[in-house]
Amino acid sequence: MKIRYKEVIEVALPYFGRFVEVVRTAKIPYLVITHDPELFYQGKWENPPKEPEVWDAVLPCPCGGFGVPTQSCVCSTEEIRNWRRKKFQGWKAVTEVTSIPYSSIRILVEIDKEAHSLLRKAYSLILGETPSLLAEVVRLAQAIAKMDGRGNIKAVDIAEAIQYIRRVDLYKGGER
Ligand SMILES: [Zn+2]
Repeated sequence: MKIRYKEVIEVALPYFGRFVEVVRTAKIPYLVITHDPELFYQGKWENPPKEPEVWDAVLPCPCGGFGVPTQSCVCSTEEIRNWRRKKFQGWKAVTEVTSIPYSSIRILVEIDKEAHSLLRKAYSLILGETPSLLAEVVRLAQAIAKMDGRGNIKAVDIAEAIQYIRRVDLYKGGER
């Protein structure tokens, strides 16, 4: 399954694709546990549902970092337990998408090699492997390049764009 997000990135999620195929065939409502619900809500799925289906996407814990390789979770065990009890209740089929490595993402706009490697570092160090945030960095960088009269994104554009973006670990503390 590929999910295109805001026309600037495409994320490949093969395991998720298989899961969706199975639950759709079985006609079972499904829950996606993920640190990036926006990707699933706002992204364009490669194979959208043919008929209306019941699904939802929720964070793995109140802060969103639990189980995410490049994030730290600030929730207590009890907070996580209560969250899961409340949010996961009633769903028969669940899947966890809390690891989305940079290698599974394709940048759909023109970007040079140096910009790519800076983006890769920022993705794990600042953006907590969150594709929807990565897409916003690319969009900002695209605007900066355009203002400079260029078609391709350079590392300097990425560096400036990163300054304007939300950093995952600084804003911990979500819905309770
Ligand atoms: Zn947490």
